Amino acid sequence: MQFQNTLAFAQSLDQQDGLSAFRDQFLIPKVNGKDIIYLCGNSLGLQAKSTKKELDKQLNAWENYAVEAWFEEDTQWLQYHHAIKDLLAPIVGAKPAEVTCMNSLTINLHLLLTSFYQPKGKKYKILMEGGAFPSDQYAVESHVKTRGYTYEDAVIEVFPREGEETLRTKDVLAIIQQHSEELALILFGGINYYTGQFFDLEAITKAGHEVGAMVGFDLAHAAGNVPVKLHDWEVDFACWCSYKYMNSGPGGISGIFVHEQHFDSDLPRLAGWWGYQLKQRFKMEKGFIPEAGAEGWQVSTSPILLMATHKAALEVIHAAGFENMRKKSVLLTGYLEFIIQMVNDQVGEECLKIITPKHSSERGCQLSIICKRGGKTLFDALVGQNIIGDWREPNVIRWSPVPLYNTFEEIYFLGQTLLNNLKTSC
Ligand SMILES: *Cc1c(COP(=O)(O)O)cnc(C)c1O
Repeated sequence: MQFQNTLAFAQSLDQQDGLSAFRDQFLIPKVNGKDIIYLCGNSLGLQAKSTKKELDKQLNAWENYAVEAWFEEDTQWLQYHHAIKDLLAPIVGAKPAEVTCMNSLTINLHLLLTSFYQPKGKKYKILMEGGAFPSDQYAVESHVKTRGYTYEDAVIEVFPREGEETLRTKDVLAIIQQHSEELALILFGGINYYTGQFFDLEAITKAGHEVGAMVGFDLAHAAGNVPVKLHDWEVDFACWCSYKYMNSGPGGISGIFVHEQHFDSDLPRLAGWWGYQLKQRFKMEKGFIPEAGAEGWQVSTSPILLMATHKAALEVIHAAGFENMRKKSVLLTGYLEFIIQMVNDQVGEECLKIITPKHSSERGCQLSIICKRGGKTLFDALVGQNIIGDWREPNVIRWSPVPLYNTFEEIYFLGQTLLNNLKTSC
Protein backbone atom coordinates (compact mmCIF):
# COMPACT_ATOMS: atom_id res chain seq x y z
CA MET A 1 0.00 0.00 0.00
CA GLN A 2 1.15 3.52 -0.83
CA PHE A 3 1.09 5.36 2.53
CA GLN A 4 0.65 9.11 2.97
CA ASN A 5 1.78 11.34 5.77
CA THR A 6 -1.52 13.18 6.22
CA LEU A 7 -4.21 13.20 8.87
CA ALA A 8 -6.90 12.52 6.24
CA PHE A 9 -5.04 9.41 5.04
CA ALA A 10 -4.52 8.07 8.57
CA GLN A 11 -8.19 8.66 9.34
CA SER A 12 -9.23 6.89 6.15
CA LEU A 13 -7.23 3.81 7.22
CA ASP A 14 -9.00 3.90 10.58
CA GLN A 15 -12.34 4.08 8.82
CA GLN A 16 -11.52 1.03 6.71
CA ASP A 17 -10.24 -0.87 9.75
CA GLY A 18 -12.55 -3.79 10.55
CA LEU A 19 -11.14 -3.95 14.10
CA SER A 20 -11.55 -0.27 14.96
CA ALA A 21 -14.49 -0.96 17.28
CA PHE A 22 -12.25 -3.05 19.57
CA ARG A 23 -10.43 0.01 20.86
CA ASP A 24 -13.57 0.87 22.79
CA GLN A 25 -13.36 -2.48 24.60
CA PHE A 26 -10.13 -1.34 26.29
CA LEU A 27 -9.37 1.09 29.07
CA ILE A 28 -6.97 3.65 27.64
CA PRO A 29 -5.15 5.75 30.28
CA LYS A 30 -6.05 9.43 30.09
CA VAL A 31 -4.26 12.65 30.97
CA ASN A 32 -6.44 15.75 31.39
CA GLY A 33 -9.35 13.79 29.97
CA LYS A 34 -7.48 12.90 26.77
CA ASP A 35 -6.36 9.39 25.78
CA ILE A 36 -2.62 8.96 25.88
CA ILE A 37 -0.90 7.33 22.90
CA TYR A 38 0.08 3.97 24.30
CA LEU A 39 2.70 2.16 22.23
CA CYS A 40 3.95 -0.14 24.98
CA GLY A 41 1.83 -3.27 24.49
CA ASN A 42 5.11 -5.17 24.15
CA SER A 43 5.67 -4.60 27.85
CA LEU A 44 2.20 -4.46 29.41
CA GLY A 45 -0.90 -4.79 27.28
CA LEU A 46 -3.90 -2.61 28.18
CA GLN A 47 -6.83 -3.80 30.25
CA ALA A 48 -9.98 -4.96 28.48
CA LYS A 49 -13.17 -3.60 30.03
CA SER A 50 -14.48 -7.16 30.35
CA THR A 51 -11.61 -8.04 32.71
CA LYS A 52 -13.28 -6.54 35.78
CA LYS A 53 -16.50 -8.41 35.07
CA GLU A 54 -14.83 -11.79 34.86
CA LEU A 55 -12.72 -11.05 37.91
CA ASP A 56 -15.83 -9.96 39.79
CA LYS A 57 -17.57 -13.14 38.76
CA GLN A 58 -14.82 -15.24 40.33
CA LEU A 59 -14.69 -13.05 43.44
CA ASN A 60 -18.43 -13.62 43.76
CA ALA A 61 -17.91 -17.36 43.32
CA TRP A 62 -15.40 -17.24 46.19
CA GLU A 63 -17.82 -15.15 48.25
CA ASN A 64 -20.82 -17.39 47.65
CA TYR A 65 -19.35 -20.86 47.51
CA ALA A 66 -15.88 -20.58 49.08
CA VAL A 67 -14.15 -23.95 48.78
CA GLU A 68 -17.17 -25.49 47.09
CA ALA A 69 -16.49 -23.25 44.06
CA TRP A 70 -13.88 -25.79 42.93
CA PHE A 71 -16.63 -28.30 42.28
CA GLU A 72 -19.87 -26.31 42.15
CA GLU A 73 -21.85 -26.79 38.93
CA ASP A 74 -21.88 -23.12 37.89
CA THR A 75 -18.36 -22.17 39.03
CA GLN A 76 -16.30 -25.29 38.26
CA TRP A 77 -12.91 -23.88 39.17
CA LEU A 78 -11.41 -27.32 38.72
CA GLN A 79 -12.22 -27.07 35.01
CA TYR A 80 -11.69 -23.33 34.70
CA HIS A 81 -8.47 -23.69 32.70
CA HIS A 82 -10.18 -25.76 30.00
CA ALA A 83 -11.83 -22.73 28.38
CA ILE A 84 -8.45 -20.97 28.48
CA LYS A 85 -6.70 -23.89 26.77
CA ASP A 86 -9.27 -23.80 23.98
CA LEU A 87 -8.72 -20.06 23.48
CA LEU A 88 -4.92 -20.32 23.68
CA ALA A 89 -4.34 -23.29 21.40
CA PRO A 90 -5.23 -21.58 18.09
CA ILE A 91 -3.16 -18.49 18.96
CA VAL A 92 0.02 -20.57 19.19
CA GLY A 93 -0.93 -23.22 16.63
CA ALA A 94 -1.32 -26.05 19.12
CA LYS A 95 -3.83 -28.73 20.07
CA PRO A 96 -5.63 -27.88 23.31
CA ALA A 97 -4.00 -30.85 25.06
CA GLU A 98 -0.57 -29.42 24.19
CA VAL A 99 -1.07 -26.19 26.15
CA THR A 100 -1.94 -25.10 29.62
CA CYS A 101 -1.59 -21.98 31.74
CA MET A 102 0.28 -22.00 35.03
CA ASN A 103 2.85 -20.08 37.12
CA SER A 104 4.80 -17.25 35.56
CA LEU A 105 7.12 -17.32 32.60
CA THR A 106 10.60 -17.74 34.05
CA ILE A 107 9.35 -20.42 36.44
CA ASN A 108 7.88 -22.30 33.49
CA LEU A 109 11.13 -21.95 31.61
CA HIS A 110 12.85 -23.63 34.56
CA LEU A 111 10.31 -26.44 34.65
CA LEU A 112 10.65 -27.04 30.91
CA LEU A 113 14.45 -26.87 30.98
CA THR A 114 14.39 -29.51 33.70
CA SER A 115 12.50 -31.78 31.31
CA PHE A 116 13.99 -30.88 27.96
CA TYR A 117 17.63 -30.15 28.72
CA GLN A 118 19.06 -33.65 28.90
CA PRO A 119 22.82 -33.41 28.39
CA LYS A 120 24.55 -36.69 27.61
CA GLY A 121 28.29 -37.20 27.08
CA LYS A 122 29.51 -34.84 24.39
CA LYS A 123 26.00 -33.56 23.73
CA TYR A 124 25.51 -31.01 26.47
CA LYS A 125 25.52 -27.59 24.83
CA ILE A 126 22.70 -25.09 24.52
CA LEU A 127 22.38 -22.70 21.59
CA MET A 128 20.74 -19.32 22.24
CA GLU A 129 20.36 -16.04 20.43
CA GLY A 130 23.02 -13.57 21.63
CA GLY A 131 21.44 -10.84 23.73
CA ALA A 132 18.50 -13.00 24.81
CA PHE A 133 16.23 -11.55 27.49
CA PRO A 134 18.21 -11.59 30.78
CA SER A 135 15.84 -13.93 32.59
CA ASP A 136 16.36 -16.53 29.87
CA GLN A 137 20.13 -16.16 30.14
CA TYR A 138 20.00 -16.56 33.94
CA ALA A 139 17.67 -19.56 33.70
CA VAL A 140 19.98 -21.30 31.25
CA GLU A 141 23.02 -20.36 33.30
CA SER A 142 21.51 -21.95 36.39
CA HIS A 143 20.61 -25.15 34.52
CA VAL A 144 24.05 -25.68 33.00
CA LYS A 145 25.67 -24.96 36.37
CA THR A 146 23.43 -27.36 38.30
CA ARG A 147 24.44 -30.07 35.80
CA GLY A 148 28.12 -29.33 36.42
CA TYR A 149 29.03 -27.24 33.37
CA THR A 150 30.10 -23.63 33.00
CA TYR A 151 28.13 -21.03 31.05
CA GLU A 152 31.13 -20.15 28.91
CA ASP A 153 31.64 -23.75 27.85
CA ALA A 154 28.08 -25.03 27.63
CA VAL A 155 26.20 -22.07 26.14
CA ILE A 156 26.72 -21.01 22.54
CA GLU A 157 25.32 -17.60 21.66
CA VAL A 158 24.74 -16.54 18.05
CA PHE A 159 25.32 -12.85 17.38
CA PRO A 160 24.64 -10.75 14.28
CA ARG A 161 27.49 -10.21 11.85
CA GLU A 162 29.81 -7.28 12.36
CA GLY A 163 27.96 -4.07 11.50
CA GLU A 164 24.53 -5.79 11.49
CA GLU A 165 21.80 -5.59 14.10
CA THR A 166 19.83 -8.78 13.50
CA LEU A 167 20.56 -12.43 12.83
CA ARG A 168 20.58 -14.11 9.46
CA THR A 169 18.73 -17.41 9.51
CA LYS A 170 21.42 -19.05 7.42
CA ASP A 171 24.04 -18.11 10.04
CA VAL A 172 21.91 -19.69 12.77
CA LEU A 173 21.51 -22.85 10.70
CA ALA A 174 25.25 -22.94 9.96
CA ILE A 175 26.11 -22.73 13.66
CA ILE A 176 23.68 -25.56 14.40
CA GLN A 177 25.49 -27.65 11.79
CA GLN A 178 28.88 -26.64 13.10
CA HIS A 179 27.99 -27.84 16.61
CA SER A 180 25.91 -30.82 15.50
CA GLU A 181 27.79 -33.24 17.76
CA GLU A 182 27.52 -31.11 20.88
CA LEU A 183 24.05 -29.57 20.88
CA ALA A 184 21.58 -30.93 23.42
CA LEU A 185 19.14 -28.03 23.17
CA ILE A 186 18.28 -24.93 21.18
CA LEU A 187 16.46 -22.24 23.15
CA PHE A 188 15.54 -19.07 21.30
CA GLY A 189 13.17 -16.21 21.87
CA GLY A 190 10.40 -16.24 19.26
CA ILE A 191 10.90 -12.50 18.82
CA ASN A 192 13.99 -10.90 20.28
CA TYR A 193 12.83 -8.38 22.87
CA TYR A 194 15.46 -5.79 21.94
CA THR A 195 15.53 -5.81 18.14
CA GLY A 196 11.98 -7.03 17.49
CA GLN A 197 13.33 -9.67 15.11
CA PHE A 198 10.93 -12.61 14.59
CA PHE A 199 13.11 -15.65 14.02
CA ASP A 200 12.39 -18.41 11.52
CA LEU A 201 11.19 -20.85 14.16
CA GLU A 202 10.25 -23.54 11.68
CA ALA A 203 13.70 -23.60 10.06
CA ILE A 204 15.47 -23.52 13.43
CA THR A 205 13.34 -26.39 14.74
CA LYS A 206 14.00 -28.50 11.67
CA ALA A 207 17.76 -27.86 11.79
CA GLY A 208 17.85 -28.61 15.53
CA HIS A 209 16.05 -31.90 15.08
CA GLU A 210 18.39 -32.88 12.25
CA VAL A 211 21.31 -32.76 14.69
CA GLY A 212 19.37 -34.55 17.42
CA ALA A 213 18.77 -31.51 19.67
CA MET A 214 15.58 -30.54 21.48
CA VAL A 215 14.15 -27.20 20.37
CA GLY A 216 12.15 -24.81 22.53
CA PHE A 217 11.10 -21.18 22.33
CA ASP A 218 10.35 -18.38 24.72
CA LEU A 219 7.41 -16.71 23.01
CA ALA A 220 7.02 -13.78 25.43
CA HIS A 221 7.10 -11.26 22.57
CA ALA A 222 5.54 -13.56 19.98
CA ALA A 223 2.42 -15.02 21.58
CA GLY A 224 -0.63 -13.01 20.57
CA ASN A 225 1.56 -10.94 18.26
CA VAL A 226 2.68 -13.11 15.33
CA PRO A 227 1.34 -16.39 13.93
CA VAL A 228 3.20 -19.50 15.07
CA LYS A 229 2.44 -23.17 14.40
CA LEU A 230 4.04 -24.96 17.30
CA HIS A 231 2.37 -28.28 16.58
CA ASP A 232 2.96 -28.41 12.82
CA TRP A 233 6.54 -27.18 13.16
CA GLU A 234 7.12 -29.95 15.72
CA VAL A 235 8.56 -27.58 18.29
CA ASP A 236 9.35 -29.61 21.43
CA PHE A 237 8.29 -27.03 24.00
CA ALA A 238 7.51 -23.36 24.42
CA CYS A 239 6.40 -20.90 27.07
CA TRP A 240 5.22 -17.31 27.12
CA CYS A 241 3.76 -14.68 29.38
CA SER A 242 0.24 -13.32 29.06
CA TYR A 243 0.78 -9.71 30.11
CA LYS A 244 2.41 -8.42 26.91
CA TYR A 245 0.39 -8.99 23.73
CA MET A 246 -2.22 -11.08 25.54
CA ASN A 247 -3.34 -8.18 27.74
CA SER A 248 -3.89 -10.33 30.83
CA GLY A 249 -2.54 -8.01 33.49
CA PRO A 250 0.74 -7.33 35.31
CA GLY A 251 2.54 -10.53 36.23
CA GLY A 252 -0.29 -12.45 34.56
CA ILE A 253 -0.29 -16.22 34.31
CA SER A 254 2.09 -17.84 31.84
CA GLY A 255 1.39 -20.45 29.18
CA ILE A 256 3.29 -23.58 28.18
CA PHE A 257 3.33 -25.82 25.14
CA VAL A 258 4.57 -29.40 25.11
CA HIS A 259 4.37 -31.24 21.79
CA GLU A 260 2.14 -34.30 21.91
CA GLN A 261 5.02 -36.53 20.84
CA HIS A 262 6.39 -36.07 24.37
CA PHE A 263 3.20 -36.96 26.19
CA ASP A 264 4.19 -40.58 26.75
CA SER A 265 7.91 -40.02 27.10
CA ASP A 266 9.69 -40.53 30.39
CA LEU A 267 11.24 -37.06 30.50
CA PRO A 268 12.07 -36.07 34.05
CA ARG A 269 9.97 -33.31 35.53
CA LEU A 270 9.50 -31.37 38.71
CA ALA A 271 6.13 -32.59 39.85
CA GLY A 272 3.40 -31.25 42.09
CA TRP A 273 -0.09 -32.37 42.96
CA TRP A 274 -1.78 -30.16 40.36
CA GLY A 275 -0.04 -32.12 37.59
CA TYR A 276 -1.36 -35.42 38.95
CA GLN A 277 -4.07 -37.25 36.98
CA LEU A 278 -7.21 -35.29 37.73
CA LYS A 279 -9.34 -38.40 38.19
CA GLN A 280 -7.22 -39.60 41.10
CA ARG A 281 -5.80 -36.30 42.32
CA PHE A 282 -7.86 -36.06 45.44
CA LYS A 283 -7.10 -39.57 46.56
CA MET A 284 -3.75 -38.09 47.63
CA GLU A 285 -1.84 -41.27 46.93
CA LYS A 286 1.88 -41.90 46.87
CA GLY A 287 3.74 -42.01 43.54
CA PHE A 288 3.29 -39.30 40.92
CA ILE A 289 1.13 -40.14 37.91
CA PRO A 290 1.00 -37.18 35.51
CA GLU A 291 -2.17 -35.95 33.87
CA ALA A 292 -2.02 -36.53 30.11
CA GLY A 293 -0.62 -33.69 28.01
CA ALA A 294 0.78 -30.33 29.00
CA GLU A 295 -1.33 -30.38 32.18
CA GLY A 296 1.01 -33.05 33.50
CA TRP A 297 3.56 -30.26 33.98
CA GLN A 298 1.27 -28.29 36.31
CA VAL A 299 2.60 -28.03 39.84
CA SER A 300 0.39 -25.86 42.01
CA THR A 301 -3.25 -25.05 42.58
CA SER A 302 -4.78 -22.96 39.78
CA PRO A 303 -4.60 -19.21 40.53
CA ILE A 304 -8.20 -18.57 39.54
CA LEU A 305 -8.02 -14.79 39.86
CA LEU A 306 -5.07 -14.58 37.44
CA MET A 307 -6.81 -17.01 35.15
CA ALA A 308 -9.91 -14.82 35.18
CA THR A 309 -8.08 -11.79 33.77
CA HIS A 310 -6.41 -14.08 31.22
CA LYS A 311 -9.69 -15.62 30.12
CA ALA A 312 -11.38 -12.25 29.67
CA ALA A 313 -8.47 -10.94 27.59
CA LEU A 314 -8.30 -14.07 25.41
CA GLU A 315 -12.01 -13.81 24.70
CA VAL A 316 -11.41 -10.36 23.19
CA ILE A 317 -8.66 -11.79 20.95
CA HIS A 318 -10.98 -14.62 19.97
CA ALA A 319 -13.79 -12.19 19.10
CA ALA A 320 -11.43 -10.05 16.99
CA GLY A 321 -9.90 -13.10 15.28
CA PHE A 322 -6.15 -13.50 15.51
CA GLU A 323 -5.73 -13.53 11.72
CA ASN A 324 -7.54 -10.19 11.46
CA MET A 325 -5.31 -8.81 14.19
CA ARG A 326 -2.19 -9.89 12.36
CA LYS A 327 -3.40 -8.37 9.09
CA LYS A 328 -4.02 -5.02 10.74
CA SER A 329 -0.78 -5.29 12.69
CA VAL A 330 1.29 -5.66 9.50
CA LEU A 331 -0.35 -2.53 8.09
CA LEU A 332 -0.12 -0.50 11.30
CA THR A 333 3.55 -1.30 11.89
CA GLY A 334 4.20 -0.63 8.21
CA TYR A 335 2.62 2.79 8.69
CA LEU A 336 4.78 3.47 11.73
CA GLU A 337 7.86 2.57 9.68
CA PHE A 338 6.73 4.90 6.89
CA ILE A 339 6.08 7.77 9.31
CA ILE A 340 9.53 7.39 10.88
CA GLN A 341 11.09 7.51 7.42
CA MET A 342 9.10 10.67 6.67
CA VAL A 343 10.43 12.24 9.86
CA ASN A 344 14.00 11.39 8.84
CA ASP A 345 13.38 12.84 5.37
CA GLN A 346 12.00 16.06 6.78
CA VAL A 347 14.80 16.45 9.32
CA GLY A 348 17.25 15.74 6.50
CA GLU A 349 19.19 12.92 8.15
CA GLU A 350 18.59 9.42 9.51
CA CYS A 351 18.20 10.51 13.13
CA LEU A 352 15.89 7.56 13.87
CA LYS A 353 17.34 4.28 12.62
CA ILE A 354 15.00 1.29 12.63
CA ILE A 355 16.89 -1.89 13.49
CA THR A 356 13.89 -4.24 13.35
CA PRO A 357 13.82 -6.23 10.08
CA LYS A 358 11.87 -4.65 7.21
CA HIS A 359 9.95 -7.68 6.10
CA SER A 360 6.69 -8.38 7.94
CA SER A 361 7.48 -12.12 8.14
CA GLU A 362 10.48 -11.17 10.30
CA ARG A 363 8.75 -8.90 12.78
CA GLY A 364 5.60 -8.38 14.82
CA CYS A 365 4.11 -5.11 16.12
CA GLN A 366 7.29 -3.73 17.56
CA LEU A 367 9.82 -1.44 15.89
CA SER A 368 13.10 -0.84 17.70
CA ILE A 369 14.68 2.45 16.82
CA ILE A 370 18.19 3.70 17.48
CA CYS A 371 18.00 7.39 18.35
CA LYS A 372 20.98 9.04 16.78
CA ARG A 373 19.78 12.46 17.80
CA GLY A 374 18.09 13.43 20.99
CA GLY A 375 18.29 10.00 22.61
CA LYS A 376 16.80 9.79 26.07
CA THR A 377 15.95 13.54 25.97
CA LEU A 378 13.75 12.98 22.95
CA PHE A 379 12.17 9.91 24.51
CA ASP A 380 11.43 11.74 27.77
CA ALA A 381 10.01 14.72 25.87
CA LEU A 382 7.59 12.38 24.08
CA VAL A 383 6.56 10.74 27.33
CA GLY A 384 5.94 14.27 28.65
CA GLN A 385 3.61 14.71 25.69
CA ASN A 386 1.80 11.48 26.60
CA ILE A 387 3.32 9.20 23.99
CA ILE A 388 4.33 6.08 25.87
CA GLY A 389 6.89 3.64 24.53
CA ASP A 390 9.88 2.16 26.26
CA TRP A 391 13.51 3.01 26.42
CA ARG A 392 16.30 0.45 26.36
CA GLU A 393 19.84 1.46 27.16
CA PRO A 394 21.98 2.71 25.57
CA ASN A 395 19.94 4.30 22.79
CA VAL A 396 16.90 2.31 21.69
CA ILE A 397 13.22 3.25 21.71
CA ARG A 398 10.69 0.46 21.30
CA TRP A 399 7.24 1.33 19.99
CA SER A 400 4.62 -1.36 19.46
CA PRO A 401 1.34 -0.31 17.89
CA VAL A 402 -1.14 -3.01 18.86
CA PRO A 403 -3.95 -3.87 16.44
CA LEU A 404 -6.65 -4.21 19.10
CA TYR A 405 -6.36 -0.70 20.48
CA ASN A 406 -3.97 1.52 18.51
CA THR A 407 -5.00 3.62 15.53
CA PHE A 408 -3.40 4.96 12.36
CA GLU A 409 -4.25 8.47 13.51
CA GLU A 410 -2.12 7.95 16.62
CA ILE A 411 0.83 6.98 14.42
CA TYR A 412 0.35 10.07 12.27
CA PHE A 413 0.24 12.18 15.43
CA LEU A 414 3.42 10.51 16.74
CA GLY A 415 5.17 11.59 13.52
CA GLN A 416 4.04 15.21 13.96
CA THR A 417 5.17 15.25 17.59
CA LEU A 418 8.53 13.71 16.69
CA LEU A 419 9.11 16.40 14.06
CA ASN A 420 8.23 19.20 16.45
CA ASN A 421 10.60 17.87 19.08
CA LEU A 422 13.47 17.13 16.73
CA LYS A 423 13.19 20.60 15.17
CA THR A 424 13.07 22.49 18.44
CA SER A 425 15.04 20.74 21.14
CA CYS A 426 17.18 17.91 19.84
C1 LIG B 1 9.07 -10.38 29.29
C2 LIG B 1 9.98 -11.55 29.17
C3 LIG B 1 10.21 -12.40 30.26
C4 LIG B 1 9.65 -12.08 31.61
O1 LIG B 1 9.57 -13.20 32.42
P1 LIG B 1 8.72 -13.17 33.78
O2 LIG B 1 9.05 -14.45 34.41
O3 LIG B 1 7.29 -13.01 33.39
O4 LIG B 1 9.17 -11.99 34.56
C5 LIG B 1 11.02 -13.50 30.06
N1 LIG B 1 11.57 -13.77 28.84
C6 LIG B 1 11.35 -12.96 27.77
C7 LIG B 1 11.95 -13.31 26.46
C8 LIG B 1 10.58 -11.82 27.92
O5 LIG B 1 10.40 -11.01 26.89
